[in-house]
Amino acid sequence: MAKILIVLYPDPVTGYPPVYARDSIPVIASYPGGATVPSPKAIDFVPGQLLGSVSGGLGLKDWLESEGHSVVITSDKEGPDSVFERELPDADIVISQPFWPAYLTAERIDKAKNLQLVITAGIGSDHTDLNAANARGITVAEVTYSNSISVAEHTVMQVLVLVRDFVTQHTIAVDGGWNIADAVERSYDLEGMRVGVFAAGRIGRAVIERLAPFGVRLSYTDRFRLPQEYEERYGLTFHESIQDLVKEIDVLTVHAPLTEETRGLLNDELLATMPRGAYIVNPARGAIADRDAIVRALESGHLAGYAGDVWDPQPAPADHPWRTMPHNAMTTHTSGTSLSGQARYAAGTREVLEDWFSGAPIRPEYLIVEGGSYRGTGAHSYAQQPTQAAV
Ligand code: NDP
Repeated sequence: MAKILIVLYPDPVTGYPPVYARDSIPVIASYPGGATVPSPKAIDFVPGQLLGSVSGGLGLKDWLESEGHSVVITSDKEGPDSVFERELPDADIVISQPFWPAYLTAERIDKAKNLQLVITAGIGSDHTDLNAANARGITVAEVTYSNSISVAEHTVMQVLVLVRDFVTQHTIAVDGGWNIADAVERSYDLEGMRVGVFAAGRIGRAVIERLAPFGVRLSYTDRFRLPQEYEERYGLTFHESIQDLVKEIDVLTVHAPLTEETRGLLNDELLATMPRGAYIVNPARGAIADRDAIVRALESGHLAGYAGDVWDPQPAPADHPWRTMPHNAMTTHTSGTSLSGQARYAAGTREVLEDWFSGAPIRPEYLIVEGGSYRGTGAHSYAQQPTQAAV
């Protein structure tokens, strides 16, 4: 029987919700391109309820315990005395989420002598040292596609929030004012703007498809070019590099994984080549942007706005400058953990566990590393030599 250590974000400060804003969520049957949604044999939760926090427990606790496993669920993950550090040495399986990542460094993996399986309940396994996992033959899996559309919707929202300057206008309304001129002095239409998409993977393509009806001019860059038919359908211009892409755009959206190649990419030098008054929305990873370069560009007026929901580190400290820099529309790391997204990644986590315990193969699109090497999605997204993308 296994010991499963699950690290989740804390419950709401007012307690676990007794009632929800809506009674149900739509049933999603498949993802674009025909990829299937998670399909565990059963679920022990009500889709649409809060599953990503400690009391929600991804809806796994009762099932796992009924199968004889021991389960520890905690949000306490920082410092040597945290529950996470104390429980890790004899854990067989660790589950956490990018929103509240249990950082599995090489040192921690070394301490976790029993560890065999690491699951990201969501997408993005950069909080696990994948080389260390490979060296130990640990399997790492994530729930690919589970919240890609959630993030794409959040991206479109933040593009509009910045360009229309929603935050200023809403604050005036809440504060009892009616100062129209103040409300609109930074407000524009998105229509006709040039939008550049950095990395056209699952999220990037979903953003392209959702923004196209706004009448914007779309361009993108990626390691691999999209099929010509797709480019024509959305009027896409391809650029060989992000350096080329950013020169002639009004809005940049960022959807590349955090790798050594993308870390710190949005720096002073690159930002200086963007047209004055450009906006950036980055829901990929905070460390892709140079924290202080973004602040400087907003303060000088070179950038007109910055939004996203990813920070470095996470949780961001209370004095992180992105909380207070001018013209920001930052959110905490929430885009992929809507109640709708939670239902899918909780179901996907259960599917991975069911396969693991029954000895069935984990589906390739959920695999990152296995048996000492990058597999499935991991072989494409995280290995040094990527393979050709499929649309
Ligand atoms: P995908 O793997 O589908 O897409 C990533 C894309 O980035 C691929 O097209 C890949 O290229 C491209 N890429 C990788 N490196 C580079 C590079 N150096 N230059 C240009 N393009 C590059 O991932 P998703 O769309 O599902 O997710 C993207 C990222 O979003 C994740 O890695 C994660 O960090 C973040 N994310 C954030 C969430 C949130 O809640 N805010 C939730 C989910 C994900 P190719 O495939 O052609 O090699």
